[in-house]
Amino acid sequence: MTEQYVYSFQNGDGKNKQLLGGKGANLCEMTQIGLNVPPGFVITTSACLDYLDNHQLADGLLDKVKVQIKEVEQTTGKTFGGGENPLLISVRSGSAISMPGMMDTILNLGLNRKTLAGLIEQTNDPRFAYDAYRRFIQLFGKVALDIDDEKFDVHFEAIKKQSGVKADVGLDAGHLKEISDLFLQVVHEETGNPFPEDVFEQLEISIKAVFNSWTGKRAVDYRREFHITPDMANGTAVNVVTMVFGNMGNDCATGVGFTRNPGTGINEMYGEYLVNAQGEDVVAGIRTPKPVHELKKEMPDLYKQLVDLRNKLEAHYKEVQDYEYTIEKGTLYCLQTRNGKMNATAMVKTSVDMLNEGLISKEQALLRIDPELLEQLLHPHLDPNNNIPSLAKGLPASPGAACGKCVFDADSAERLGRTGEDVILLREETKPEDIHGFFASQGILTSRGGKTSHAAVVARGMGKACVAGAEDIKVDVKSRRALVSEVLISEGDIITIDGSTGEIYLGRIPTIQPSFSEELKTMLAWADEIAEIRVHANVDTPERARTAASYGAKGIGLCRTERMFNATDRLPIVIDMIIADSTEERQIALDKLLPFQRDDFQQLFEAMSPHPVTVRLLDPPMHEFLPSEQQLLDEIQALKQYETILLGQKVTLNTLSSNTPLPPPFDQLDEEVVNIAITKKELMLKKVRDLFEVNPMLGHRGVRLGMSYPEIYKMQIRSILESAAICIKRQIPVLPEIMVPQVITAKELVQVKQYVDEIKHEIEQANRIELKFKFGTMIETVRASTRAGALAETAEFFSFGTNDLTQATFSFSREDAENKFLPLYNEMGLLEDNPFEVLDVKGVGQLMKITVDLGRKTRPEMKIGICGEQGGLPLSIRFCHHIKLDYVSCSAPRIPIARLAAAHAKLLENEYSEHQDDR
Ligand code: ADP
Ligand code: MG
Ligand code: MG
Repeated sequence: MTEQYVYSFQNGDGKNKQLLGGKGANLCEMTQIGLNVPPGFVITTSACLDYLDNHQLADGLLDKVKVQIKEVEQTTGKTFGGGENPLLISVRSGSAISMPGMMDTILNLGLNRKTLAGLIEQTNDPRFAYDAYRRFIQLFGKVALDIDDEKFDVHFEAIKKQSGVKADVGLDAGHLKEISDLFLQVVHEETGNPFPEDVFEQLEISIKAVFNSWTGKRAVDYRREFHITPDMANGTAVNVVTMVFGNMGNDCATGVGFTRNPGTGINEMYGEYLVNAQGEDVVAGIRTPKPVHELKKEMPDLYKQLVDLRNKLEAHYKEVQDYEYTIEKGTLYCLQTRNGKMNATAMVKTSVDMLNEGLISKEQALLRIDPELLEQLLHPHLDPNNNIPSLAKGLPASPGAACGKCVFDADSAERLGRTGEDVILLREETKPEDIHGFFASQGILTSRGGKTSHAAVVARGMGKACVAGAEDIKVDVKSRRALVSEVLISEGDIITIDGSTGEIYLGRIPTIQPSFSEELKTMLAWADEIAEIRVHANVDTPERARTAASYGAKGIGLCRTERMFNATDRLPIVIDMIIADSTEERQIALDKLLPFQRDDFQQLFEAMSPHPVTVRLLDPPMHEFLPSEQQLLDEIQALKQYETILLGQKVTLNTLSSNTPLPPPFDQLDEEVVNIAITKKELMLKKVRDLFEVNPMLGHRGVRLGMSYPEIYKMQIRSILESAAICIKRQIPVLPEIMVPQVITAKELVQVKQYVDEIKHEIEQANRIELKFKFGTMIETVRASTRAGALAETAEFFSFGTNDLTQATFSFSREDAENKFLPLYNEMGLLEDNPFEVLDVKGVGQLMKITVDLGRKTRPEMKIGICGEQGGLPLSIRFCHHIKLDYVSCSAPRIPIARLAAAHAKLLENEYSEHQDDR
């Protein structure tokens, strides 16, 4: 044995958690800074790996352990296995990462007949001694010898029953002695051997059991589930610690504490304790512990010591600590400390407080918080204390929880929503024409479609909760009900959905509202100081723009104008524009649309002033604004039936004598109107058929529309520039950016730029002002990426549309990929992540790099950003920072996450590597 496998708490390196485990390293560290830790030592994780490799303890390891025990004996004046003043120890596991599923702690090791007698004599408290003994036999039996708890529990309960005792504390020394004897028998029966009397044998068996627990099923499963790799934690250490007793009387206690309140972050004493108890009792919940402030009255002096311990822990670790302690006859011992796990509210508050207290630096205050944790703060979430079982589960498509009356179509949602009711829109799947229902709903639930279905994407954009693809729900819109196996949901029934987990509940489950606290604002302001990459928002409405601005967006990176077309007051005009037969007819419709768009933009610019607003010209194929072919066929059929009825009524009128009184509807009929409706629907049908494309996403869309229908793009450009002019006149600083989608060649850009220049000139002349704005392009085709140098001659900015660019790079259609083979690819390890969620650095990322290089070669000051959904993901933000993008743009609720991630990207830039793994 050349490597040192055993370290006393005095000598172990408190920083080396890999070697000593988290618990062991901290026991060393606490000992060395003078905290009162019971003497002990650590057997290293290397010794564990050695044991697991060779199936035996390393040569000489037990000798080293004996040397350490000798030292502990000297410090404590006790003897291991001795009859007079016996040394008892605990044997505790602990790896670099704390892991439930690792071996339990064995307490009171070193008890046998001889030391038991000694302990009774020494303490003059047989009850205490037998209590310790029976606990040791059971724990050792269970943990080290693998005997079922139940085998012991039956005897324990039997004795309790026999003696008419309800709680454990009611048992006297006689009972506990009887129990101990029975327990010894259990061990003998179960293992075929008597309970080991030799205390070193007890210790050796325990050390091996701890080592073996590293490869136990529970531990292995846990590591797999949480991706704990060997470089994070490899093997477990064994901690041997002198026992101290919180159960020796009413001047003894044991407890756990947090140095600050982990629920709120408030800087206060926090925790619970039990008088006259051993540590496991607090965790096991056998007795109800008391809040720590009661200790102040009960043991004022020890409370003071505890406050002192708390202060020293924080001053040293400079992080909130979660600690365990025991009080033995008036002396306080610290048994464990580790960094406290807290919720997002508490993390943010403690970051701000600890910085203000001078405990940590700004960098540390930012880096100690995982950006994704902030998600919790921005959406309403379910009360974690509810234990109501869920009814069904779908995909967690847009985070947050929502609760309301279930409705089955968008119109009902709107009607009910207007009366102030909370509603959940339940559909098989949603379509663009359902948009008004989204606005009126608290949450969206669909029984079909994935995380990128229309419902999911739109809900995310609006920051509303959405559960998608809950396939167990059978929706029957006609009868206005849904079935989940046996359970019936009728319209108006209250349901709750959790878009963060995908769970669906019947009834109202209390939700907790999000809060954007002062501390969060402060912390994010620090993040902005440090970050180099800015955060913009993908929003389409003034209302969302205001939300985004309040979350700290420094501009709008993507406004999709088609969302504006879908509103109920515009869609009919948009349809007229699409079915128009001539340019003149189309121009009439466009002239009607223009004021709407101008108004939209003006509000949007104002909401974001003085920050830039990037408006994308029309992108989707036009048929998306029309109903489906089937729907039109059904409607035409209905109209024709109606026409027949009208005819019948006419015949009726003609047949009856004129003085027969007629019921009211007869005088309101007008065949003419029905005919007009039929003609219009037939026109739409014809258009739908004309516009049919085999692969619409690769078809007539984006700038291609701008080439074939320049009047549409011109109308949009005019609306943008006219609203900018209005803002300028009203002294509102605005920075519009006109963005062209789906570009493949510089010539397309030159063409659109020509429209822009003409309109600009006209508006400037008419208003006698100078318009300031930018003209640029999305980069979302592979060709645009490779032609970036040429595009940059016309474009003043680029924005990576990484949703389409990813589709183009992979030749995947997103919906099909995510619903069909992508999960398999992830499972088989062919692809590590979903490239539509996590930016694919190795493929798409390389195209982005080329684009940035080419673009900035032509135009060094070129502004470049990303507006794909990946732009809100911390991992992707690090890459975007690395390739020197100017901004990322993401949905409003992700803005705070992105701001913090942007600061992390800067602070950790030197550690970043594109090739962290080779996929
Ligand atoms: P876990 O990893 O589950 O927290 P620990 O090793 O911390 O397990 O042990 C659990 C509890 O057992 C501790 O909180 C403490 O109360 C008690 N304990 C462990 N070692 C000792 C000891 N030497 N003296 C007294 N109590 C101990
Ligand atoms: Mg513990
Ligand atoms: Mg696109």
